[in-house]
Amino acid sequence: MKKGTSLSRRTALKGIGAVGAISLVSSEATAVMDRISPFSDRLFHKDILDKVLKTPLIDTHEHLFDEDVRLAKSPGSRSEPDDWSLIFKHYLDSDMTTCGMPQAESDRFFSSDVDPADKWAILEPYWPAVKNTGYGRAVRIAIEMLYGVDELSATTVRKVQAGYEATRKPGFYRRILCDLAGIESCQVNFLGGKPFHKSSMPTLLMQDISIVGMFSGPDINGLSKPTGIEVKGLEDWRRVIDWWFDQYGKQAVAVKSQNAYGRNIDYQKIEPDAAQELFKLRLENKPMDPQQRKDLEDHLFWCAVDAATKRNLPVKLHTGYYAGDNYMPLSRLLQNPGSACDLCGASPESRFVFMHIAYPYYEDLIAVAKHYTNAYLDMCWAWIINPVAAKDFLKKYLVTAPANKILTFGGDYIPVEPVLGHAMIARRGIALALSELVEEGWLKLSDAMDLIDPIMHGNARKIFNLAEKQKFLGAL
Ligand SMILES: [Zn+2]
Repeated sequence: MKKGTSLSRRTALKGIGAVGAISLVSSEATAVMDRISPFSDRLFHKDILDKVLKTPLIDTHEHLFDEDVRLAKSPGSRSEPDDWSLIFKHYLDSDMTTCGMPQAESDRFFSSDVDPADKWAILEPYWPAVKNTGYGRAVRIAIEMLYGVDELSATTVRKVQAGYEATRKPGFYRRILCDLAGIESCQVNFLGGKPFHKSSMPTLLMQDISIVGMFSGPDINGLSKPTGIEVKGLEDWRRVIDWWFDQYGKQAVAVKSQNAYGRNIDYQKIEPDAAQELFKLRLENKPMDPQQRKDLEDHLFWCAVDAATKRNLPVKLHTGYYAGDNYMPLSRLLQNPGSACDLCGASPESRFVFMHIAYPYYEDLIAVAKHYTNAYLDMCWAWIINPVAAKDFLKKYLVTAPANKILTFGGDYIPVEPVLGHAMIARRGIALALSELVEEGWLKLSDAMDLIDPIMHGNARKIFNLAEKQKFLGAL
């Protein structure tokens, strides 16, 4: 792509903002994106790109801590650095490890005891290998947009650190998420242990109920304590599950489970009598074999799913790729789409949201959404796992399965800064997917334009009843 074309595109986009149309993504943000991943006129249909850049996104999956917690410098139980290296953590740290950075170097890079200015020297040998992955690009876009640094180097590292410090101040969540990334609201899967987190910014950081502890383990002491229910058997445990849903079901947008990190999502319906016996073994800490543990987990999974379905909450399930490094059994992940079919068939009244496009098995997952009424697909995390595959997925999805069951963005981050980079990559990918479908003659331009609102926010509003939830949360 020639420089001149890039400039004319940038000028044109600035013009759109200037004439007063609602420009959700600033011209500054667009210009930065254009420099990193050019919006070539040859690749993008101008009307599509302009509309995608102006349309609000609903972000259906994050792990963000509340802003006040982040500002208190304690984003989790782990000790995190509070310097520019933080935005490399979750997920770029994984690429750094798999490209060969030794653990000791990684520990130094993410240490709060190392001078932030000295961290470039640790990263430098590995940077060329990871700077172009989706994880790398999301971070680079964030660094350029937020700190005004286009190349990380020995000479710019101090400016990056100064930018980090100047950015991280009260109000920066809204600035990054709403003003710069054009995000209307987020859906947070809180990682703090409890099933539900009462956010201090409830209408921006809407929350899922995490159901993992209800069936995996299960976390009997942790979850029953706030309820005051003494758990002596399976019936009591069901009451504990119901308590969490009665307490927080109206505020929550959905329920979420990342249990697929430990097993396939092949949850069978186990009879209550058999489950009762197994629950007793668990309560008494008696030895259980792997099949018994699975049967109990399967039964309790459906208890939680039934509780969610009764309250019209969609069930979000992790599928596909694993975060981290050196432990993923791809042969297990391969089974996720087939098991997704079984879940949809076993409970037609439940709505299942299969997350992360089951990467790399996304073609299979499209077949699930095409075939099952109650299967919804969420592209959260996908744009930074593999941006080209994500675009390919979206193109194929839109000409295969109903357009009202696709959710196109979730940043899936703990730190807020790279959500901006991820959102820009998603906007670029959505615009490119639609432009290519028009260019290839699969879609008319008007049909492509009509798809933008639903896939970027309209579907999410309907699937998660967001108007009703926002009203409820606003009145709390
Ligand atoms: Zn996640």
